[in-house]
Amino acid sequence: TAYVFISHNLAVVRHVADHVMVMYLGRPVEMGPKEDIYTRPLHPYTQALLSATPTIHPDPDKPKIKIVGELPNPLNPPSGCAFHKRCPYATERCSTEEPALRPLDNRQVACHYAEQFIVISRA
Ligand code: SF4
Repeated sequence: TAYVFISHNLAVVRHVADHVMVMYLGRPVEMGPKEDIYTRPLHPYTQALLSATPTIHPDPDKPKIKIVGELPNPLNPPSGCAFHKRCPYATERCSTEEPALRPLDNRQVACHYAEQFIVISRA
């Protein structure tokens, strides 16, 4: 038996799911085993969502990642990477070239620069 559980509350999802798919503007940006996603998020949107998730014992040394700007219209998404207008790591390439969902570090991720976040997330 399989269930699809849809929620904006990542703290709840962590207790319910074995596999997680994070979506932005209706598109998958990262998906894979729960522990990989929660312990080493590679997509900047996943990183920001997890950073904003309240915890009982917050780490004061861990900086919060704020997503700036307004959510774009899903019916008229931005060109290139749909997250590029709000992503702190966006480059010119991100505004023109849509990143494909691709295998990396035991999950699928749609970001041109996800490799560099493997190093950061393991630090
Ligand atoms: S492709 Fe670019 S804009 Fe999109 S998440 Fe990756 S770095 Fe950010």
